[in-house]
Amino acid sequence: MKTDYLQSLLKFMDNSPCNFLAVESIKGMLEDAGFKELPLSNKFAIKSGDKFYFAKNDSAIFAVTVGSKPEAETGFKIIAAHSDSPGFRIKPHGEMLCEGGIVKLNTEVYGGPILYTWFDRPLSIAGRVILKGEDALHVVTRTIKIDRPLLQIAHLAIHFNRAVNEGNKLSKQKDMLPIIAHVNDKLEADNMLLKLVAEQLNVAIDDILDFDLLLYDTTPACTFGLHDEFISCGRLDDLSMAHAAITAITECADRDTTCVTAIFDNEETGSGTKQGAGSPVLANALRRLVEARGGSFDDFGRALQRTFMVSADNAHAFHPNYAEKFDPTNHPSLGGGPCIKINSNCKYMTDAHSAAIFKNLCIEAGSPYQYFVNHSDVAGGSTLGNILTAQIDIEGVDVGNPLLAMHSARETASVADHLNMIAVFKKFFS
Ligand code: ZN
Repeated sequence: MKTDYLQSLLKFMDNSPCNFLAVESIKGMLEDAGFKELPLSNKFAIKSGDKFYFAKNDSAIFAVTVGSKPEAETGFKIIAAHSDSPGFRIKPHGEMLCEGGIVKLNTEVYGGPILYTWFDRPLSIAGRVILKGEDALHVVTRTIKIDRPLLQIAHLAIHFNRAVNEGNKLSKQKDMLPIIAHVNDKLEADNMLLKLVAEQLNVAIDDILDFDLLLYDTTPACTFGLHDEFISCGRLDDLSMAHAAITAITECADRDTTCVTAIFDNEETGSGTKQGAGSPVLANALRRLVEARGGSFDDFGRALQRTFMVSADNAHAFHPNYAEKFDPTNHPSLGGGPCIKINSNCKYMTDAHSAAIFKNLCIEAGSPYQYFVNHSDVAGGSTLGNILTAQIDIEGVDVGNPLLAMHSARETASVADHLNMIAVFKKFFS
């Protein structure tokens, strides 16, 4: 089982180079497990035992297993994670023909990547393309992944900046633009990207109306370490938690209680979009679900009071090179188990009550657990939990597996932690 879940994660990561492709990979996992698509635009005709999913904007996805008892009696069990990761997005009119026939691409930074980890590694392009459809309001969406190294962001040679290793401020607009081609004439550079996309999708260039295209690292996800105990891959924040949550709901649907796995987009930019955790998408769907089964608004309200949510977004592992950055008494280590994230100023939704519940789940699943708290002089980040509780009146806990180098082009995680988190999620959903 250990290698199965690990192989499944590595494959999932390679097939999910960006939010849109992650949602597509998740659809595949859900359909293999018998989940059926129920678009939000359809009538919610739902009965006990149903397993269904719906997507929002092709970049957020929600899986549901319907329990036998009314939600007003049981509440919902929810695990939330996010599909997006920091990186680079290609701007419109991206081609820049430079001296000597070199073409570079104009990009914009998405979220907060560690910029210099993106230098000098083979990159490619993935995302979605919008094509002409029946009429102006009905367009067609296709996902795209160019499966070969296509670009590289080349660093300046050290000979031009001998002080580079003493700290080197980077400009997102000047330093971070990738090289895509060497061409002989200007014509070749014109619409280079659209031509490539059209060829890949086997459509006419005139049919392409727009695109959301992102860069990704083409080096496959892998394990490393003397015992292969670590995972090396970009986007583990937060696709590793998405993978664990989806694995759990496909294997362990609570027969009595309705379970939900919610994978939102745009956490890295503050969750404020229609497909983000700050939107009413989940609250509306949960209410429709209760009412579709004959419940009232009052039943929905009662259901929420009995609901528990695990907001799963990765935490920071104790870094052996930077002990001074970490809290003096809480050192969540890689391999030490899922982290319960606590912040006295309520950046996380965790409190003693919800932490205790998650702790119980870990104990019952036979998993170790640890605490993540910030060093009191270090600000730290925020996550999904509190943004969701502003939309839905529920209790929950912020957790996540420890990572090193969060937001690097390649982050480091632990194999054991991933397997443990799956075990805890399965316990929650059973
Ligand atoms: Zn995250």
